[in-house]
Amino acid sequence: MAAAVNSGDGGKRDETAASRLAGAKNAQAGEFKAPLRYNDSMDDYLIVGSGLTGAVIARALSDAGHSVLVAERRSHAGGNVHEQTHASGIPFHTYGPHYFRTNSEKLWDYVHRFAKFRPFEAVLKSWVDGRYENWPIAGSYIRRTANGWTPSPTATPQNFEEASLAMMPRVVYEKFVKGYSEKQWGVPATALSANLAKRFDVREDDEPRLMRHKFQGLPENGYSAFMAKMLDGIRIIVGCDYLKHRSEFAARHIVFTGPIDEYFGFERGRLKYRGQRREHQFLPDAEWHQPCIQVNNPDAANGPHIRTVEWKHLLPPEQRDGISGTLLTREVTVTPDDPNEYEYPFPDDANAKLYGAYAEQARSIPNLLICGRLGEYCYYDMDQAIGRAQVLAQRLIDEAAR
Ligand SMILES: Cc1cc2nc3c(=O)[nH]c(=O)nc-3n(C[C@H](O)[C@H](O)[C@H](O)COP(=O)(O)OP(=O)(O)OC[C@H]3O[C@@H](n4cnc5c(N)ncnc54)[C@H](O)[C@@H]3O)c2cc1C
Repeated sequence: MAAAVNSGDGGKRDETAASRLAGAKNAQAGEFKAPLRYNDSMDDYLIVGSGLTGAVIARALSDAGHSVLVAERRSHAGGNVHEQTHASGIPFHTYGPHYFRTNSEKLWDYVHRFAKFRPFEAVLKSWVDGRYENWPIAGSYIRRTANGWTPSPTATPQNFEEASLAMMPRVVYEKFVKGYSEKQWGVPATALSANLAKRFDVREDDEPRLMRHKFQGLPENGYSAFMAKMLDGIRIIVGCDYLKHRSEFAARHIVFTGPIDEYFGFERGRLKYRGQRREHQFLPDAEWHQPCIQVNNPDAANGPHIRTVEWKHLLPPEQRDGISGTLLTREVTVTPDDPNEYEYPFPDDANAKLYGAYAEQARSIPNLLICGRLGEYCYYDMDQAIGRAQVLAQRLIDEAAR
């Protein structure tokens, strides 16, 4: 094994965290005496962050026989894939709606190791001209509003607006896309990267589902139970910010899944993110508020929120029938200062370049791997995050075997 990574930053131990640690160690190992270190013997791997990336890597390393400790700064495990239940009995996703989908049978089998998934195929609408319209935009809508229009691919669109206009009529772009994207990113559409338009699915048919993936569903008992099962038997300390307690951990290797710029104390500058302010509203007297789980609000005249989520739509009929009232969440996009609220990496060249410089710095540090959506400054769907984490874990396992 290579030399220990124990990169002290002079971080002061705070007694609250130390007390929490004492509890955690006593609960798990029963032998913890004085809270001087988070792990009293050297672990093979310290995994920082218990989201999908950290949990999949921790699971694989632990299954391969390595000693693994997970440190998580939030009060719960599971990262952004987390679920709570409102007092009305309606479950909701703490960090915005998460619809699981994949085309990979292997990944579908993998997630079934930790939970049964029940069928759920998300259907979304956009509120446009006082009506619910399909999102992604229905082919019939395009034909109705811009009859005779055909796509005109541009060889090198210079920005998001140009790339979008090559894919859809201007009238459609202005009603569905421009306002939504400008709310999402907080800048004019002409200032956004053309690559962003590659995520669009402009349809010729009227397929109502958000995605056409072969496998789609939700964990039967919720995401929190799914993540707990994935981490089952692995030591985990919650409520502990690794960056404030670096010197108290001892591990041969560190896998860090938090924000890469924060790991380096923002010394080269901050990477820009967008996040969401979430406002919840319970309507005790309404059975339903909207026709589907998520309604997008592209028109600024209808309010600053970018979408409204009605959580009851996630439940199977036999579970929602006994619930009275309905729970809504309106999301307003913001530029967060707090790294805990980072959601979407900002799609422009300046941030890509800054990330590149941090990534190069990280690669020069032995026994350190920085990865995941925050570590790689990259939006990953859940299946992509799992697939990527599996590849990285296998690489670590192979390296350890050499
Ligand atoms: C709003 C939103 C909606 C989404 N919806 C979908 C969807 O519908 N379908 C889909 O497939 N994907 C969706 N995703 C993507 C999904 O959330 C990601 O794929 C997944 O969260 C990636 O997991 P991760 O482990 O890389 O990151 P995270 O889940 O963010 O995990 C990182 C963890 O590290 C912890 N951490 C960070 N720094 C420290 C530190 N210093 N010390 C200790 N712990 C630390 C954090 O607290 C966090 O728990 C969505 C993402 C967002 C933002």
